[in-house]
Amino acid sequence: MCGIVGYVGKKRAIDKLVLGLKTLEYRGYDSAGVAVMQDNHVIVVKDKGRINNLEAILDYDALNGNVGIAHTRWATHGIPSLKNAHPHEDQNKHFTVVHNGIIENYMELKDFLIKEGFKFESQTDTEVIPVLMEYYYQKDKDVVKAFKHTLDDLKGSYAILVITPLISNTILVAKKNSPLVIGEGSDGIYIASDIPAIIKYTKDFYFLSDGEKAIIDDKIRFYDEHFEEIKKQSKTINWEMDAIDKNGFKDYMLKEIYEQPASLKNTLNGIIVNNKPVQFVGFSLNKKYLESLKQIYIVACGTAMHAGLVGKYAMEKMLRIPVNVEVASEFRYRDPIVDKNTLCIFISQSGETADTIAALKLAKEKGAKTIAISNVFESSITREADHTIYTHAGPEIAVASTKAYISQVGIIVAFAIYLCDTLFGSNKDTNYLKEELLHLPDLMEEVIKNEDNYHELAKKMINVHDLFYIGRGCDYYIAMEGSLKLKEISYIHSEAYPAGELKHGPIALIDKGTFVLGIITDSKIADKTLSNLEEVKSRGANIVLITNQNIREEQVISIPDINPILSPILAIIPLQFIAYYVAKEKDLDVDKPRNLAKSVTVE
Ligand code: GLU
Repeated sequence: MCGIVGYVGKKRAIDKLVLGLKTLEYRGYDSAGVAVMQDNHVIVVKDKGRINNLEAILDYDALNGNVGIAHTRWATHGIPSLKNAHPHEDQNKHFTVVHNGIIENYMELKDFLIKEGFKFESQTDTEVIPVLMEYYYQKDKDVVKAFKHTLDDLKGSYAILVITPLISNTILVAKKNSPLVIGEGSDGIYIASDIPAIIKYTKDFYFLSDGEKAIIDDKIRFYDEHFEEIKKQSKTINWEMDAIDKNGFKDYMLKEIYEQPASLKNTLNGIIVNNKPVQFVGFSLNKKYLESLKQIYIVACGTAMHAGLVGKYAMEKMLRIPVNVEVASEFRYRDPIVDKNTLCIFISQSGETADTIAALKLAKEKGAKTIAISNVFESSITREADHTIYTHAGPEIAVASTKAYISQVGIIVAFAIYLCDTLFGSNKDTNYLKEELLHLPDLMEEVIKNEDNYHELAKKMINVHDLFYIGRGCDYYIAMEGSLKLKEISYIHSEAYPAGELKHGPIALIDKGTFVLGIITDSKIADKTLSNLEEVKSRGANIVLITNQNIREEQVISIPDINPILSPILAIIPLQFIAYYVAKEKDLDVDKPRNLAKSVTVE
């Protein structure tokens, strides 16, 4: 689920490994460890907790080997503890392994190996990998064969790196349903679960497909799922190093909030052009196909699902085609009604979200055309889908998504306009929407300027136990995202409710001083939401209103007026700042909230 780094080269591996792990910290983890090949034996150092704990116990002088692997663990099997931390080894210390993912049949394998006389140290699923390799190695003393047989036995998801003193200058690599990239730098070969960990050293990356393997020493040999050698082309990623530095900001999240106007501009660049039909690179959908559509599905998790809801609002308004939005973990187990007359859109920032990928595979099986929206080039989801649209938000490091959300909303609205242009031809309304989209980054800058006001407001909320975010239509979708942001990083319980629904239950929770954040950006329903706010106010609630309407309230955050389809992009900014400053005032780790991981690669 979390981070893997590997290095084979001319330099001291430990420096590369620790730096790589630190860059991957944002993925969320509970323990960390390294293994370095030192004069033909492997030294393993690991600890529970943060990478700083690991650094404190590393004897850098004793570790000058040039081959190593490293790991941050997000526990799936077994508590976060020293014993369960990776790397894991077999008893003869022939094989040292780091693994991201889940070995689903580990129990079966473990029972078998125990019967064969092997011993286990940890509660993890991962430990079966080195032990199974040792089992096969004892049979015919062939490391590569042992690796192959072991992989053949594993069920589940994995990104695996193995080092062994039996071939001491080598890392064995395998990938299935867990992210992994390999980069060739000037001083060595780097392996990581994510590009940012190694972008410092190279811009040329190899992306392994599921089932593929690599054996790396001073060169990289690639193998397909049958262990036949194959050739692979590297791809160039033009991210700048700046993109993963804090650049003077206190936290990544704050930096990323500030980057939002630029992220949106980059995402829409070349797609939205004034008075021109919308176009996407690499694919087009023809009118006949679009006319055959009976429904559209947008499937995603968390924040990406909230962006999908805005897509539903835009598409239904413009196209009059039913659009269903569903969380991926529900869609995939529900036998959804999807066929060739359904267009399915899957949104995932990382492109590695396990549930979303599984949902996409299911939709494909059922005959639907699939489109992936992702922020990460060549990520798994983009390789599974029929077509991909990239958001160009740049690397998002903070766990709580901000600029990726804004870019997802921008691109899904652009896609709605595309469908509209293709079906009905460009018209006055869609052209106007394009103009507004292009103008949005300037308006976002205006909203960002009021950071201090949002901070002041946040100070009033730090001791609150419950909060409500309410709105109608698109404003409800903004409320959902605002509420999620607060939960994720401030650990304050909050709920988003359709404003009209409060009186059907939750109003019982409104008490003197309960904070209710109302969002009103659509003049057509402004009065309705306002009445709901009055209802809670008369029961003692403390109201904060975010609006582009001219409404008098004691605590109002004013944002520029714009088409309700686009208002989420403006209205979410104060809510992101509020969540950020509440967490800051509570002295919490904003970028790495507890229990959360950036890239949710397990179900
Ligand atoms: N399933 C493994 C464990 O619990 C790996 C988890 C991870 O991806 O960090 O140790």
